[in-house]
Amino acid sequence: MSEMMNQRQRHYPQFSEEHDALRRTIRDWCVNRLHPNAEQWEAARLFPREIFKEAADLGLLGIRVDEQYGGLGLDWWYTAVWAEELSSCGMAGLGMALLVQSDMATPVIGEIGNDYHKRNFLQPAVAGDAIAALGVTEPDAGSDVASIRTTAVREGDDFVINGAKTYITNGTRADFVTLAVRTGEAGYGGISLVLFPTDTAGYRVTRKLEKVGNHCSDTAEIAFDNCRIPAKNLLGLENMGFVYIMQNFQGERLVGALSTIAGAQRCLDMTVQYCRDRSAFNKPLTGFQTVRHQLVQMEAEIEAGRQLCYRAVHLANLGDDMAIREISMAKLICGELAIKVVDQCLQLHGGMGYMAETEVSRIWRDVRLITIGGGTSAIMREILTKVQGI
Ligand SMILES: Cc1cc2nc3c(=O)[nH]c(=O)nc-3n(C[C@H](O)[C@H](O)[C@H](O)COP(=O)(O)OP(=O)(O)OC[C@H]3O[C@@H](n4cnc5c(N)ncnc54)[C@H](O)[C@@H]3O)c2cc1C
Repeated sequence: MSEMMNQRQRHYPQFSEEHDALRRTIRDWCVNRLHPNAEQWEAARLFPREIFKEAADLGLLGIRVDEQYGGLGLDWWYTAVWAEELSSCGMAGLGMALLVQSDMATPVIGEIGNDYHKRNFLQPAVAGDAIAALGVTEPDAGSDVASIRTTAVREGDDFVINGAKTYITNGTRADFVTLAVRTGEAGYGGISLVLFPTDTAGYRVTRKLEKVGNHCSDTAEIAFDNCRIPAKNLLGLENMGFVYIMQNFQGERLVGALSTIAGAQRCLDMTVQYCRDRSAFNKPLTGFQTVRHQLVQMEAEIEAGRQLCYRAVHLANLGDDMAIREISMAKLICGELAIKVVDQCLQLHGGMGYMAETEVSRIWRDVRLITIGGGTSAIMREILTKVQGI
């Protein structure tokens, strides 16, 4: 399978020998170190903390971060390789946790943070010494980010924070949270972003949540009771948080689309092999034209999704605002496609597909998240409606 992937990747002119070298490094780590532990970490509902450090030592937690803060200072194509290859660890949950660290909770610090923010939060996260979480969603505010209620009130040189967040990835063990708070009027104009250290008095992990899939990643409810943090932990300008969050979501959605389409490809590759090996009516499943047609249809649709992702990566690399259109399309199309593909793959595995012990069943449980987390499909359509002026 890995040889097939290699051949496929060689046909994309965007990727140089340097990209391929990074791809091999990540795949070796995923296949040899992570994948053999998948069952155990899924059952334990957590993977070891040291995995963050191992990823950091390979340079993977700061691919686009400035070298002066420990990053590699590379571009979006290298991030694409990271997001794609993570799927070979066989646990979308682990991929999600690491991508939250590298591409969801920390890029905004690199974008708008000052040297204090970068030295104290970004650099330790890139080094794998601190675990980061992104705290936007609340019990009464998910898609509608503008209605968050967690408050940060200025008192002298501090902010005093009260409220709660939910569905927070890395939430049970994060060292800091890139946190959306209300500092001003109701609506999107009164939101700010702060960097919140979780050793602050009054902070609590109120519940570890049990999910349908992505089991090895922890997801938590967290609460803030008169938590006092220095006002200098404000990221960027006060009350500009909504804009920063929306910009930050672009990267989150792009890595989500890339990793999902790579995961669907992996699932399809496994299914092609299964259909070659499994016989019915005295011939392999691939001996049936209907099966062969299903397999190549999926291959074609995944390729279309991948090309949409690559178009979005190209635009993101240019720093082009137009990327919002392609990224929203990629998240929408690749998310819905991956769910469809993985479901068909499970079907082609027959009863074996429904067994908890098979990887295809884990992928099937995990993939369902993609049209919900990081902005639902409905929200992608809503953004596209605005971008297209319809
Ligand atoms: C496993 C997991 C991990 C997550 N990790 C994080 C994290 O690390 N940090 C974080 O901040 N959040 C996280 N989230 C939250 C995630 O981003 C939200 O669940 C998501 O944005 C949807 O919000 P909601 O759950 O409140 O759904 P709701 O907003 O309540 O939506 C419910 C339904 O209504 C639909 N809907 C809403 N608005 C509209 C509209 N305008 N038009 C049409 N339909 C609409 C939605 O599409 C959806 O189908 C995570 C969620 C999960 C499940």
